[in-house]
Amino acid sequence: AKNAGRNRFSYFTAALQKASQKRSQLINDLRDALSTKQFVLHYQPIIKLANGAIQKAEVLLRWCHPKRGWISPAEFIPLAEESGIIIEIGNWVFREAVQEVKFLRATGHPEFQISINKSPIQFCSHSLFFQEWLPYLKQLDLPAECLIIEITEKLLLEMGEIGTSKLLALRDAGIQIAIDDFGTGYFSLSYFKKFDINFLKIDQSFVQNSVDCLNDMVLCEAIITLAHKLGLKVIAEGVETIEQHKLLSAAGCDYGQGHFFSQPVTADILRRM
Ligand code: C2E
Ligand code: CA
Ligand code: CA
Ligand code: CA
Repeated sequence: AKNAGRNRFSYFTAALQKASQKRSQLINDLRDALSTKQFVLHYQPIIKLANGAIQKAEVLLRWCHPKRGWISPAEFIPLAEESGIIIEIGNWVFREAVQEVKFLRATGHPEFQISINKSPIQFCSHSLFFQEWLPYLKQLDLPAECLIIEITEKLLLEMGEIGTSKLLALRDAGIQIAIDDFGTGYFSLSYFKKFDINFLKIDQSFVQNSVDCLNDMVLCEAIITLAHKLGLKVIAEGVETIEQHKLLSAAGCDYGQGHFFSQPVTADILRRM
Protein backbone atom coordinates (compact mmCIF):
# COMPACT_ATOMS: atom_id res chain seq x y z
CA ALA A 1 0.00 0.00 0.00
CA LYS A 2 2.91 2.27 0.84
CA ASN A 3 4.34 1.67 -2.60
CA ALA A 4 1.06 2.39 -4.32
CA GLY A 5 0.89 5.69 -2.47
CA ARG A 6 4.38 6.57 -3.57
CA ASN A 7 3.61 5.64 -7.16
CA ARG A 8 0.54 7.77 -7.12
CA PHE A 9 2.57 10.60 -5.66
CA SER A 10 5.23 10.41 -8.35
CA TYR A 11 2.49 10.17 -10.95
CA PHE A 12 1.03 13.44 -9.73
CA THR A 13 4.40 15.17 -9.52
CA ALA A 14 5.13 14.08 -13.07
CA ALA A 15 1.76 15.39 -14.25
CA LEU A 16 2.28 18.69 -12.46
CA GLN A 17 5.78 19.02 -13.87
CA LYS A 18 4.45 18.37 -17.34
CA ALA A 19 1.73 21.00 -16.95
CA SER A 20 4.21 23.57 -15.70
CA GLN A 21 6.62 22.78 -18.56
CA LYS A 22 3.77 23.25 -21.00
CA ARG A 23 3.00 26.63 -19.42
CA SER A 24 6.54 27.94 -19.59
CA GLN A 25 6.83 26.68 -23.17
CA LEU A 26 3.69 28.62 -24.08
CA ILE A 27 5.02 31.76 -22.37
CA ASN A 28 8.19 31.42 -24.43
CA ASP A 29 6.14 30.98 -27.58
CA LEU A 30 4.10 34.08 -26.67
CA ARG A 31 7.29 36.14 -26.70
CA ASP A 32 7.86 35.26 -30.36
CA ALA A 33 4.26 35.42 -31.43
CA LEU A 34 4.14 39.19 -31.93
CA SER A 35 7.33 39.51 -33.95
CA THR A 36 6.40 36.58 -36.19
CA LYS A 37 2.86 37.83 -36.75
CA GLN A 38 0.98 34.91 -35.19
CA PHE A 39 -1.76 37.13 -33.77
CA VAL A 40 -4.88 38.10 -35.68
CA LEU A 41 -7.71 40.36 -34.63
CA HIS A 42 -11.28 39.33 -35.08
CA TYR A 43 -14.18 41.75 -34.79
CA GLN A 44 -17.62 40.92 -33.44
CA PRO A 45 -20.34 43.31 -34.61
CA ILE A 46 -22.39 45.08 -31.94
CA ILE A 47 -25.89 45.64 -33.33
CA LYS A 48 -28.23 48.50 -32.54
CA LEU A 49 -31.40 46.60 -31.68
CA ALA A 50 -33.79 49.34 -32.79
CA ASN A 51 -32.68 49.26 -36.44
CA GLY A 52 -30.14 46.46 -36.90
CA ALA A 53 -27.30 48.86 -37.72
CA ILE A 54 -23.69 47.87 -37.02
CA GLN A 55 -22.05 50.89 -35.39
CA LYS A 56 -19.56 49.16 -33.15
CA ALA A 57 -17.47 46.02 -32.94
CA GLU A 58 -15.58 44.29 -30.16
CA VAL A 59 -12.00 43.36 -30.92
CA LEU A 60 -11.12 39.78 -29.97
CA LEU A 61 -7.57 38.52 -30.10
CA ARG A 62 -6.72 35.24 -31.87
CA TRP A 63 -3.46 33.32 -31.69
CA CYS A 64 -2.47 30.82 -34.34
CA HIS A 65 0.31 28.81 -32.73
CA PRO A 66 2.74 27.27 -35.26
CA LYS A 67 2.43 23.78 -33.72
CA ARG A 68 -0.78 23.79 -31.70
CA GLY A 69 -3.02 25.75 -34.07
CA TRP A 70 -5.62 28.16 -32.72
CA ILE A 71 -5.36 28.77 -28.99
CA SER A 72 -8.23 30.43 -27.14
CA PRO A 73 -7.61 33.80 -25.50
CA ALA A 74 -9.11 32.30 -22.34
CA GLU A 75 -5.97 30.12 -22.26
CA PHE A 76 -3.23 32.51 -23.35
CA ILE A 77 -4.39 35.90 -21.98
CA PRO A 78 -3.82 34.79 -18.35
CA LEU A 79 -0.29 33.64 -19.31
CA ALA A 80 0.35 36.90 -21.14
CA GLU A 81 -0.78 38.80 -18.05
CA GLU A 82 1.32 36.74 -15.68
CA SER A 83 4.45 37.21 -17.78
CA GLY A 84 3.85 40.89 -18.53
CA ILE A 85 3.80 40.27 -22.29
CA ILE A 86 0.20 41.54 -22.30
CA ILE A 87 1.54 45.12 -22.28
CA GLU A 88 3.23 44.71 -25.64
CA ILE A 89 0.37 42.63 -27.04
CA GLY A 90 -2.16 45.18 -25.80
CA ASN A 91 -0.35 48.02 -27.52
CA TRP A 92 -0.32 46.04 -30.75
CA VAL A 93 -4.05 45.31 -30.42
CA PHE A 94 -4.68 49.00 -29.86
CA ARG A 95 -2.74 50.14 -32.93
CA GLU A 96 -4.27 47.50 -35.24
CA ALA A 97 -7.81 48.17 -34.00
CA VAL A 98 -7.44 51.92 -34.32
CA GLN A 99 -6.23 51.58 -37.90
CA GLU A 100 -9.30 49.50 -38.65
CA VAL A 101 -11.67 52.04 -37.13
CA LYS A 102 -9.89 54.70 -39.17
CA PHE A 103 -10.66 52.72 -42.31
CA LEU A 104 -14.30 52.11 -41.36
CA ARG A 105 -14.90 55.76 -40.49
CA ALA A 106 -13.43 56.83 -43.81
CA THR A 107 -15.57 54.38 -45.80
CA GLY A 108 -19.16 55.12 -44.92
CA HIS A 109 -19.30 54.54 -41.15
CA PRO A 110 -18.35 57.96 -39.74
CA GLU A 111 -19.56 57.12 -36.22
CA PHE A 112 -17.99 53.68 -35.92
CA GLN A 113 -16.58 52.70 -32.52
CA ILE A 114 -14.17 49.93 -31.71
CA SER A 115 -14.32 48.25 -28.33
CA ILE A 116 -11.18 46.72 -26.86
CA ASN A 117 -10.55 44.57 -23.79
CA LYS A 118 -8.09 45.66 -21.13
CA SER A 119 -6.31 43.57 -18.51
CA PRO A 120 -5.61 44.86 -15.00
CA ILE A 121 -1.86 44.89 -15.47
CA GLN A 122 -2.20 47.21 -18.44
CA PHE A 123 -3.23 49.79 -15.87
CA CYS A 124 -0.28 49.16 -13.56
CA SER A 125 2.34 51.73 -12.70
CA HIS A 126 5.08 51.03 -15.26
CA SER A 127 2.80 50.70 -18.24
CA LEU A 128 2.75 54.06 -19.95
CA PHE A 129 0.17 53.09 -22.52
CA PHE A 130 -2.11 56.05 -22.33
CA GLN A 131 0.72 58.45 -22.94
CA GLU A 132 1.20 56.73 -26.29
CA TRP A 133 -2.46 56.17 -27.09
CA LEU A 134 -3.79 59.69 -27.20
CA PRO A 135 -0.99 60.98 -29.45
CA TYR A 136 -1.49 57.97 -31.71
CA LEU A 137 -5.18 58.78 -32.12
CA LYS A 138 -4.26 62.37 -32.87
CA GLN A 139 -1.69 61.29 -35.40
CA LEU A 140 -4.41 59.35 -37.24
CA ASP A 141 -6.74 62.33 -36.90
CA LEU A 142 -9.27 60.25 -34.94
CA PRO A 143 -11.45 61.55 -32.11
CA ALA A 144 -11.08 59.77 -28.76
CA GLU A 145 -14.75 58.70 -28.95
CA CYS A 146 -13.89 56.13 -31.60
CA LEU A 147 -12.54 53.94 -28.83
CA ILE A 148 -14.38 52.06 -26.07
CA ILE A 149 -12.36 50.36 -23.36
CA GLU A 150 -13.94 47.26 -21.84
CA ILE A 151 -13.02 46.62 -18.26
CA THR A 152 -14.40 44.06 -15.88
CA GLU A 153 -15.81 44.79 -12.45
CA LYS A 154 -12.91 42.81 -11.04
CA LEU A 155 -10.48 45.17 -12.71
CA LEU A 156 -12.15 48.22 -11.23
CA LEU A 157 -11.89 46.61 -7.83
CA GLU A 158 -8.23 45.66 -8.20
CA MET A 159 -7.10 48.87 -9.80
CA GLY A 160 -5.04 50.90 -7.39
CA GLU A 161 -4.83 54.66 -7.32
CA ILE A 162 -2.46 54.82 -10.28
CA GLY A 163 -4.72 52.69 -12.43
CA THR A 164 -7.74 54.70 -11.40
CA SER A 165 -6.10 57.99 -12.29
CA LYS A 166 -5.04 56.59 -15.68
CA LEU A 167 -8.56 55.46 -16.40
CA LEU A 168 -9.96 58.83 -15.38
CA ALA A 169 -7.44 60.57 -17.64
CA LEU A 170 -8.53 58.44 -20.59
CA ARG A 171 -12.16 59.20 -19.79
CA ASP A 172 -11.39 62.92 -19.57
CA ALA A 173 -9.78 62.73 -22.98
CA GLY A 174 -13.04 61.35 -24.40
CA ILE A 175 -12.34 57.62 -24.61
CA GLN A 176 -15.48 55.70 -23.61
CA ILE A 177 -15.78 53.06 -20.92
CA ALA A 178 -17.82 49.86 -20.91
CA ILE A 179 -18.19 47.55 -17.93
CA ASP A 180 -17.68 44.02 -19.25
CA ASP A 181 -19.40 40.88 -17.90
CA PHE A 182 -21.66 43.13 -15.85
CA GLY A 183 -23.40 41.32 -13.02
CA THR A 184 -20.79 38.64 -12.39
CA GLY A 185 -18.34 40.53 -10.19
CA TYR A 186 -18.21 43.04 -7.41
CA PHE A 187 -19.57 46.18 -8.97
CA SER A 188 -20.01 49.01 -6.53
CA LEU A 189 -22.63 51.62 -7.30
CA SER A 190 -20.09 54.30 -6.40
CA TYR A 191 -18.21 53.47 -9.64
CA PHE A 192 -21.04 55.11 -11.53
CA LYS A 193 -20.19 58.42 -9.88
CA LYS A 194 -16.45 57.98 -10.06
CA PHE A 195 -15.90 56.89 -13.65
CA ASP A 196 -18.67 58.37 -15.79
CA ILE A 197 -19.25 55.01 -17.47
CA ASN A 198 -20.81 54.92 -20.96
CA PHE A 199 -21.93 51.28 -21.40
CA LEU A 200 -22.90 48.25 -19.36
CA LYS A 201 -22.38 44.91 -21.05
CA ILE A 202 -24.81 42.40 -19.54
CA ASP A 203 -22.96 39.13 -19.10
CA GLN A 204 -23.96 36.35 -21.45
CA SER A 205 -24.99 34.05 -18.60
CA PHE A 206 -27.94 36.36 -17.77
CA VAL A 207 -28.80 36.85 -21.42
CA GLN A 208 -28.84 33.14 -22.16
CA ASN A 209 -30.97 32.21 -19.15
CA SER A 210 -33.32 35.15 -19.58
CA VAL A 211 -35.77 33.17 -21.69
CA ASP A 212 -36.20 30.23 -19.29
CA CYS A 213 -35.41 31.79 -15.97
CA LEU A 214 -37.69 34.50 -14.66
CA ASN A 215 -35.06 35.75 -12.22
CA ASP A 216 -32.50 36.31 -14.96
CA MET A 217 -35.07 38.06 -17.11
CA VAL A 218 -35.95 40.35 -14.21
CA LEU A 219 -32.24 41.00 -13.66
CA CYS A 220 -31.75 41.95 -17.32
CA GLU A 221 -34.71 44.32 -17.13
CA ALA A 222 -33.52 45.85 -13.88
CA ILE A 223 -30.00 46.42 -15.25
CA ILE A 224 -31.45 48.11 -18.35
CA THR A 225 -33.72 50.36 -16.27
CA LEU A 226 -30.93 51.32 -13.87
CA ALA A 227 -28.53 52.03 -16.73
CA HIS A 228 -31.02 54.20 -18.59
CA LYS A 229 -31.89 56.21 -15.50
CA LEU A 230 -28.18 56.93 -15.12
CA GLY A 231 -27.80 57.84 -18.79
CA LEU A 232 -25.85 54.72 -19.79
CA LYS A 233 -26.41 52.46 -22.80
CA VAL A 234 -26.71 48.70 -22.47
CA ILE A 235 -25.08 46.02 -24.63
CA ALA A 236 -26.35 42.45 -24.21
CA GLU A 237 -23.61 39.86 -24.76
CA GLY A 238 -23.91 36.32 -26.06
CA VAL A 239 -27.29 36.74 -27.80
CA GLU A 240 -27.80 33.38 -29.51
CA THR A 241 -31.51 33.06 -30.29
CA ILE A 242 -34.40 35.07 -31.70
CA GLU A 243 -36.25 34.65 -28.38
CA GLN A 244 -33.42 36.33 -26.50
CA HIS A 245 -33.31 39.07 -29.12
CA LYS A 246 -37.05 39.73 -28.80
CA LEU A 247 -36.99 39.73 -25.02
CA LEU A 248 -34.08 42.17 -24.89
CA SER A 249 -35.66 44.48 -27.46
CA ALA A 250 -38.92 44.48 -25.50
CA ALA A 251 -36.97 45.35 -22.35
CA GLY A 252 -35.48 48.38 -24.12
CA CYS A 253 -31.90 47.08 -24.42
CA ASP A 254 -29.85 49.31 -26.74
CA TYR A 255 -27.35 46.95 -28.36
CA GLY A 256 -26.85 43.22 -28.87
CA GLN A 257 -23.81 41.10 -29.60
CA GLY A 258 -23.64 37.36 -30.13
CA HIS A 259 -23.85 34.44 -32.51
CA PHE A 260 -27.47 35.29 -33.39
CA PHE A 261 -26.14 38.39 -35.18
CA SER A 262 -22.62 37.33 -36.07
CA GLN A 263 -19.61 35.35 -34.88
CA PRO A 264 -16.40 37.33 -34.49
CA VAL A 265 -15.11 37.84 -38.06
CA THR A 266 -11.97 39.04 -39.84
CA ALA A 267 -11.51 42.70 -40.71
CA ASP A 268 -12.18 41.88 -44.39
CA ILE A 269 -15.56 40.39 -43.59
CA LEU A 270 -16.48 43.20 -41.19
CA ARG A 271 -15.77 45.75 -43.92
CA ARG A 272 -18.26 44.02 -46.20
CA MET A 273 -21.03 43.79 -43.56
P1 C2E B 1 -15.14 38.62 -23.33
O1 C2E B 1 -14.55 39.99 -23.33
O2 C2E B 1 -16.28 38.39 -22.40
O3 C2E B 1 -15.53 38.31 -24.83
C1 C2E B 1 -16.71 37.68 -25.23
C2 C2E B 1 -16.47 36.22 -25.55
O4 C2E B 1 -17.72 35.62 -25.85
C3 C2E B 1 -15.59 36.01 -26.76
O5 C2E B 1 -14.82 34.84 -26.52
C4 C2E B 1 -16.62 35.77 -27.87
O6 C2E B 1 -16.10 35.05 -28.98
C5 C2E B 1 -17.66 34.98 -27.12
N1 C2E B 1 -18.98 35.07 -27.73
C6 C2E B 1 -19.47 36.05 -28.53
N2 C2E B 1 -20.75 35.81 -28.87
C7 C2E B 1 -21.10 34.66 -28.26
C8 C2E B 1 -22.33 33.88 -28.23
O7 C2E B 1 -23.35 34.22 -28.82
N3 C2E B 1 -22.31 32.76 -27.46
C9 C2E B 1 -21.20 32.35 -26.78
N4 C2E B 1 -21.28 31.23 -26.06
N5 C2E B 1 -20.03 33.05 -26.80
C10 C2E B 1 -20.00 34.19 -27.53
P2 C2E B 1 -13.26 34.78 -26.88
O8 C2E B 1 -13.02 35.47 -28.18
O9 C2E B 1 -12.86 33.35 -26.75
O10 C2E B 1 -12.58 35.65 -25.76
C11 C2E B 1 -12.53 35.20 -24.43
C12 C2E B 1 -12.03 36.28 -23.51
O11 C2E B 1 -10.66 36.59 -23.75
C13 C2E B 1 -12.77 37.61 -23.67
O12 C2E B 1 -13.99 37.54 -22.98
C14 C2E B 1 -11.78 38.58 -23.07
O13 C2E B 1 -11.91 38.61 -21.67
C15 C2E B 1 -10.43 37.94 -23.42
N6 C2E B 1 -9.83 38.66 -24.56
C16 C2E B 1 -10.06 38.51 -25.89
N7 C2E B 1 -9.33 39.38 -26.62
C17 C2E B 1 -8.61 40.11 -25.72
C18 C2E B 1 -7.65 41.19 -25.82
O14 C2E B 1 -7.31 41.69 -26.92
N8 C2E B 1 -7.12 41.68 -24.65
C19 C2E B 1 -7.49 41.19 -23.43
N9 C2E B 1 -6.93 41.74 -22.33
N10 C2E B 1 -8.38 40.19 -23.29
C20 C2E B 1 -8.94 39.66 -24.41
CA1 CA C 1 -15.19 41.98 -23.61
CA1 CA D 1 -17.87 39.88 -21.77
CA1 CA E 1 -15.89 37.05 -20.20
